Amino acid sequence: MADDTQNCMLEGCTRQAEIILEVGGQAIYLCRPHFTQLVARMTKAAVRRGSISAKSIRVEKVGDGKVKLSIKRVRKVDVGEKG
Ligand SMILES: [Zn+2]
Repeated sequence: MADDTQNCMLEGCTRQAEIILEVGGQAIYLCRPHFTQLVARMTKAAVRRGSISAKSIRVEKVGDGKVKLSIKRVRKVDVGEKG
């Protein structure tokens, strides 16, 4: 397929993609507003956790070439010391 224009892959979005995000070796095409939104979400999560990486993005395929993106939750780590 020789497709020059790729639409944003987020579910329900029909805007043209401007940014390609690589998650787990998979290219995710995003429009600017959705990319900005994702960055904002990642920033929030990073502030809460102290760090974040692209691996924290979960890609869920919803069919039709569309995806849902979410930030993986980190399992609660009990750092309380014993004794
Ligand atoms: Zn979009």
